[in-house]
Amino acid sequence: MTVELISVGTELLMGNIVNTNSRYLSRKCAELGFSLYLQITVGDNEGRLCEMMKAALSRADIIILTGGLGPTQDDMTKEAVAKVLNRELIMDEASRERISSFFKFRYGQNAVPPVITENNWKQALRINGCIVVENDNGTAPGYIVETEGKTVILLPGPPSEMVPMFAQHIFPYLKKKQEKVFVSKMVKICGVGESRAETILIDLIEGQSNPTIAPYAKDGEVHFRITAAADNEEDAEKLLNPMVEELYKRFGDNIYTTDEEESLEQVVVKLLQEKNYTVTTAESCTGGLLTGRLVNVSGASDVLREGFITYANEAKMKYLGVSSDTLKAYGAVSEQTASEMAKGAAEVACTEVALAITGIAGPDGGTIEKPVGLVYIACSVKGHITVQEFRFMGTRQRVREQSVIYALDLLRRSLL
Ligand code: ATP
Repeated sequence: MTVELISVGTELLMGNIVNTNSRYLSRKCAELGFSLYLQITVGDNEGRLCEMMKAALSRADIIILTGGLGPTQDDMTKEAVAKVLNRELIMDEASRERISSFFKFRYGQNAVPPVITENNWKQALRINGCIVVENDNGTAPGYIVETEGKTVILLPGPPSEMVPMFAQHIFPYLKKKQEKVFVSKMVKICGVGESRAETILIDLIEGQSNPTIAPYAKDGEVHFRITAAADNEEDAEKLLNPMVEELYKRFGDNIYTTDEEESLEQVVVKLLQEKNYTVTTAESCTGGLLTGRLVNVSGASDVLREGFITYANEAKMKYLGVSSDTLKAYGAVSEQTASEMAKGAAEVACTEVALAITGIAGPDGGTIEKPVGLVYIACSVKGHITVQEFRFMGTRQRVREQSVIYALDLLRRSLL
């Protein structure tokens, strides 16, 4: 199955908004085992959209369009698709009723013109012979048109509407088109750079057929999606599992999960729960980012006691008991200070585990001995302290984010 995506919207072309829909849909196509060959972004221009549609129809089996389903004049995706497919637009009574209820719900008795304007009913028009897909989060429905062995899918632009509609209705619909069963695992690796990770796997990547290996680089992490195709799930797993085992042989503890939905912080919280340990954080340059990542995890309250943001030296001394001699002799960004921050945090909060970060996020404040990006991370587990030095590159935000990822990873490794 080959797929093309057409994103409609002048805002996308102008760079006013980022095309997150295409990112989501590309990943979903990969999950379905479909080959996504082309993504097109086109402005709110009917002529150009018709041209793109005709070309896509001549190449792909499935065409997914997002955006341009709204009520205004410049929303004309449905009109353009109907024109290219030579189909009429007809009133869909169920959609009309739904739009009317939506406005009644939102505006109560005032849900009469001018609140509902004439162009709102444009959204109740459907392409003759299509399947109308309900929108639980807005007024523009989606549409599926089957035509001469091709499938055309129209989805609303707002991601808050498009994503749930795709997940609930379109994904199951497309799944039925799979010629094979696809099973995939996402091998998530931390602590190995992208190019090194690829070099370690180069023979497998170059020789891949079934399963396939697709790398995805994330800040501070590398993910590999391994996908196997077979006639049934059991056979697909038989193909998949030896490849996953091979990756474990090559990357060992650097792999923190093979579950697509599991994040690094979730793994860390799970390990703390298993060991019945509590944790506290002591953050300088990350200013709460680390604690925020832990709090992202539902169930964090089982393990997280408190977090200290000790940005100034005085705070490091006052709340964590870092000694003024250490600060004077080695500076706030040093192995010694990181170590004392972790030790002090664990003692003050009475936790088995403490994680401390101190570094120079930049862009100012760096010196030759201590450049921007220099970060020390200390992890204390039952009094045993490990400190690591890192030299991160990039903007202030990137340095801070990488510090958090490597801190979580240091904690994970310390708990293994
Ligand atoms: P509406 O009913 O809200 O008018 P629509 O289907 O007509 O929806 P658009 O008007 O094209 O969609 O886009 C509405 C909003 O959705 C945009 O302003 C933008 O915020 C968001 N949006 C549209 N397309 C994308 C995309 N590809 N990626 C991310 N956001 C998008």
